[in-house]
Amino acid sequence: MQTPAPTVDGSKPVLEVVNLVKEFSLQRSLLVRRRDRVHAVDGVSFKVEVGETLGLVGESGCGKSTLARAVMRLIEPTSGQIYIDGTDIVPLSKRQLRPYRRQLQIVFQDPFASLNPRLSAAEIVAEPLDVHDIGSAEERMERVVELFQRVGLRASQMKNFPHQFSGGQRQRIGIARALASNPRLIVADEPVSALDVSIQAQVVNLLMDIQQERKLSYLFIAHDLAVVAHISHKIAVMYLGRIVEFAERRALFTQPLHPYTEALLAAVPVPNPALKREREVLGGELPSPINPPSGCHFRDRCPHAFDRCQSESPALREIGSGHLVACHLH
Ligand code: SF4
Repeated sequence: MQTPAPTVDGSKPVLEVVNLVKEFSLQRSLLVRRRDRVHAVDGVSFKVEVGETLGLVGESGCGKSTLARAVMRLIEPTSGQIYIDGTDIVPLSKRQLRPYRRQLQIVFQDPFASLNPRLSAAEIVAEPLDVHDIGSAEERMERVVELFQRVGLRASQMKNFPHQFSGGQRQRIGIARALASNPRLIVADEPVSALDVSIQAQVVNLLMDIQQERKLSYLFIAHDLAVVAHISHKIAVMYLGRIVEFAERRALFTQPLHPYTEALLAAVPVPNPALKREREVLGGELPSPINPPSGCHFRDRCPHAFDRCQSESPALREIGSGHLVACHLH
């Protein structure tokens, strides 16, 4: 039976995440004697408004992809709320969740691994239409042709299989599939990280054009600030499962407050190296989330750490209008 779309209330954020936690328990072994728990996502809150892109940035292993999957309920959150148009989807059963799934789609990092190699490109793009029983067979085919054209693929390529496309074209198929059910929000999990730099810009521009046409919202995840800079209206910086800074794009780039954001900015290439800002380049590695440092999780890598950072975890506080930071310096 066709799943009806939920009622849309344009006055509410498309997505609101409140205090989301995702823990994984480690099995006992010779190395792990206690049943330790890893906080992959540790009390994360944010909103994504209609037609807005929230960029979520952090190093590999900081919990971004776990957060993306928890928001989609591809993995179950340990606690917290996920509101889609004002309805908390965490307590919903799989059947109750179906209409919300239609509103919420995902584009994965690896366009090859995320496409079924045994299905033709047309069958892949039509999958959400089949799953949600949208339209007749003829209407579905028309929709697939329209989506192919919209993402810059030729109708003559519809019967081809994933291995017959380039990496950029495969990601276009992934985007067409995500658009098929006419969602309101797309979670884009490192959608351009596996692509050549020249292709990255094309895919980001395509996503931005589609956003304008459809008032789509994106949660756009990347490990590199340079990638989210172009597309994001707001940016959240994540470190070891927590958001450490949240701001409008311009404020984040011109007035970064957290030492970790400063370090990420130092890694962003600038056209003229003589203009490169005097910023600390990030040293060391992301600590293990199994045994994070006490107090501020960033203290082992922070050039400004002081006594209080060892004992007290800094709360995320609003410093200026819409600019939040978790650091004892502020
Ligand atoms: Fe650095 Fe301390 Fe701020 Fe953490 S709280 S970022 S260690 S100054």
